Amino acid sequence: MLQYLVILLDDTSVAYCHAENPLKARNLMPLDTLRKAVLFGMKENLMIQYVYPEYDLPEEYHEVIESIDHVKIGRDVAVYNEVPTAITADNAVLRLPIADFISRSYDIAALIPQVKRLNICITDIEHFKDEQCEQYSKALATLSEVLLQLGKADKQAQVNILTDRLQLKHMHNCGAGDTNITVAPNGKFYLCPAFYYDEKTGISNRLNHHKPTSERSVGDLDYGVQIPNPQLLKLDHAPLCRICDAFHCNRCVWLNQKLTWDANTPSHQQCVLAHLERNATRDLQAKMMEAGFEAGEEIKPIDYLDPFDVREEF
Ligand code: SF4
Repeated sequence: MLQYLVILLDDTSVAYCHAENPLKARNLMPLDTLRKAVLFGMKENLMIQYVYPEYDLPEEYHEVIESIDHVKIGRDVAVYNEVPTAITADNAVLRLPIADFISRSYDIAALIPQVKRLNICITDIEHFKDEQCEQYSKALATLSEVLLQLGKADKQAQVNILTDRLQLKHMHNCGAGDTNITVAPNGKFYLCPAFYYDEKTGISNRLNHHKPTSERSVGDLDYGVQIPNPQLLKLDHAPLCRICDAFHCNRCVWLNQKLTWDANTPSHQQCVLAHLERNATRDLQAKMMEAGFEAGEEIKPIDYLDPFDVREEF
């Protein structure tokens, strides 16, 4: 069931997840389209997430934007594409290639006490190599140590890839096309911004071989959301994910489609990274419990990093 509506205010709205935004020319959502999008959100009782471009919007947009509860990505939620020296927002997204995450882990760890929540987003998951597992785990441990010390000092911060799993008892993934949908400046719906970028840059629809177009929309503001076979995006139709306990995993359908040609089938890279994070969370949990903190339901030890490798055992 839909819960969130992502409104891309402009073609140059900030990228805040795995996918880069390759669009460089401004294309502001017309005011009438924005009004329709807000009305759609109201009627469907959706929480709005506006995604802002770098530039200031015209004055007349503010009244419409403020007419509904929302979060402003690129404003309230700060987005960084390189490791900043300091973060002033409570809630920040840090988008980095994996090599930078590893090499800058001490600098990133130093940012944690400055925020309430830091969302780390690896932008080149497809290039992750198994040989990087150890380095990635070490980088996670560096961040984890700061979280532990903050806890001991009675302070708190969240880092998505380390603390989300502590609180989760069930899958809580991105939910593109399932719990959230994106409306682009053209008034059409997309599973997420990345599908809009694909359409704009002419990347063809791999799911529909009979129709060689780059059309990636799933409905529009006039006719509503129309996802063909929406069940194929859901957890109960994902044979690997539904038996997995990396509950915090993004389960990115865009990345899945890019790497496996199936929106609901994950790549090895995504699973391994999510399991390294799961295991790092398990280590953090053990240390927190040792220090006398409540740290959620025990995360069990496992001996695999990709559920595909042990699928016969499930
Ligand atoms: S780790 Fe792999 S199997 Fe588990 S939820 Fe993520 S994508 Fe699905």
